[in-house]
Amino acid sequence: MNLQEVANGAHKSVKVKKHIECNTCHGSGAKDASSVTKCTVCGGNGVVRKVTNTVLGQMQTTATCYACNGSGQQITKKCVTCNGLGVVYGEETLNIDIPAGVQDGMQLSMGGKGNAGEHGGPAGDLIIQIEVEENAELEIDGQNVIYNMHISFIDAVLGASVEVPTIEGKAKFKIPAGTQAGKIFKLTGKGLPTVNRYGRGDQLILVHVFTPIDLTADEKKLLEKLRESPNFKPKPGSKTEKGFFDRMKDLFTE
Ligand SMILES: [Zn+2]
Ligand SMILES: [Zn+2]
Repeated sequence: MNLQEVANGAHKSVKVKKHIECNTCHGSGAKDASSVTKCTVCGGNGVVRKVTNTVLGQMQTTATCYACNGSGQQITKKCVTCNGLGVVYGEETLNIDIPAGVQDGMQLSMGGKGNAGEHGGPAGDLIIQIEVEENAELEIDGQNVIYNMHISFIDAVLGASVEVPTIEGKAKFKIPAGTQAGKIFKLTGKGLPTVNRYGRGDQLILVHVFTPIDLTADEKKLLEKLRESPNFKPKPGSKTEKGFFDRMKDLFTE
């Protein structure tokens, strides 16, 4: 599943390879109607009575018939398609509704959609293992999604209008002037829902400021001019230079 499907839920049509009911005998395992007779051991009851002698007298117990496994029927001629099992290996197309907010590794179970039961018995359950595809731009962190935003230091200084990826596609985002490296912005409610639909996570935007590495002589000259400018000196302890925990605190009190 991709992020959009996790956020909105998904409807999937999947082919499942499993034991399905035999088409020839419709699960009975018998060649035809005349090759099914009453079980001679239990007389068609499916249970057998057992009488045991104890010191307190005779005790009667009942048990599932060993000859027919409780079906009460005996098959004289087996279905040739399934060799009397009532099931064959095949494929079934199933429509699966996956709720919004599932997580990687989660298991969903569909009752009665697993392997068909032998000799017409009840079918098992289908277990669906959820796998969430990695997204190239957005990282999942519980209900939150994280976007690592790489910006130039010019954009960090002067501010800029950019587009950021979100679960619902591109969104316009304004980088404020004076944005510090390591700043975390929050897009409230732009994260993932929970399976019980209680609340929704946020999108966190982590700011990475790119420091240029290869500069031309002209570029170096321009920056050398700014080097001694008082406005370009770091001011530790000011509101712009916060530690990681202060930034996290800001995030949750905004
Ligand atoms: Zn059959
Ligand atoms: Zn029987």
